Amino acid sequence: MSAGEESKSAPDTLLSLDKAGLAEHVVALGGKPFHGRIAREQVLKHGVTDYAAMTSLPATLREALAAELPILSSREVDRSVARDATTKLLLGFPRGGGVEATIETVHIPPSSPKSTKGATLCVSSQVGCPVACPFCASGRLGLVRNLAAHEILEQYVRGRALGDLSRSVVMGIGEPLLNFENLTTALDAVHDEMGLGTRRITVSTVGFPDRLRRAAESRPRFQLAISLHTPFDDQRDELVPAMKGTPIADVIAAADHWFDVTGREVTYEYVLLGGDNDSVDHARALADRLWGKRCTVNLIPYNPVEGDTYRRPHAEDVDSFRQFLDDAGTVATIRWSRGLEGDAACGQLRVRHA
Ligand code: SAH
Repeated sequence: MSAGEESKSAPDTLLSLDKAGLAEHVVALGGKPFHGRIAREQVLKHGVTDYAAMTSLPATLREALAAELPILSSREVDRSVARDATTKLLLGFPRGGGVEATIETVHIPPSSPKSTKGATLCVSSQVGCPVACPFCASGRLGLVRNLAAHEILEQYVRGRALGDLSRSVVMGIGEPLLNFENLTTALDAVHDEMGLGTRRITVSTVGFPDRLRRAAESRPRFQLAISLHTPFDDQRDELVPAMKGTPIADVIAAADHWFDVTGREVTYEYVLLGGDNDSVDHARALADRLWGKRCTVNLIPYNPVEGDTYRRPHAEDVDSFRQFLDDAGTVATIRWSRGLEGDAACGQLRVRHA
């Protein structure tokens, strides 16, 4: 194989082609342009991942498509299912030279079986992560590459194939603002073609101020969550290394700008690390920083990651942290992770496989 062939980009899939490209492909295989639209709709709206099930297409076209144009580019490398049916998929995408790039996608069914709502899907935005937060498994192996738009979208299709979706969070592996163009291309399809509204999609970021301001101006159709983790600049430099030197005040100012431009409130995420950032001093300084703002703090008790020295906070300390914020006028909620027992922390399955 020549070097040229080796560097050739990955083969087309149904999701990697734009609408015109798909119509052209279908016509070349003997179909009509609208057959392409039907196939895409089957995949995105109904999570169909096999042409044989697309009975509204002519049988000969189904066979030709099955032979010529894969629907998805990933392979399911592993799957772990918790007692509450939370399902974590480890997906492998081609990376070149026979190497595979792996990411995680998590399907979290509604907590009450009586609920008619669909699941929440947690998706990844990059293969690995360059931010390197010391308590997070996703940054352990550094950044491998950005995910293409269709690779982000593909996670939604695999999630939809596991059951209806009613919410999505971009809180898997990677830093969304560092792959923003591909992310918004994918999320536009999720919004327009899968039917998840603006308020049902949340993107979580460490909040690079310049990128965040540009994002706000682009009329994004999602909710924003910012990983803050501490009210103190020196500690944030440690906990969010890629933001070293960026004052917290600049991050919060960019979040205020987001609120002004979009009219949508921001959620601040705060991983509670027992003994590190769960003191009353932290709660007080955090409440001071957010005083008078329309926002919510989401407290996430740390999920242990293999080989880490951080501690899970005591339940009483989590409650008093929340209560302190509440008393100071800052709305706070607690998110205890569901499912996946020992594997709750995102990125762990991937690290273990590597
Ligand atoms: N890079 C983005 C999105 C990914 S992580 C971001 O940092 O926001 C989604 C959330 O999970 C972030 O708030 C992250 O800090 C948190 N998180 C990472 N590792 C965790 C762990 N071991 N326990 C609890 N929360 C964790």
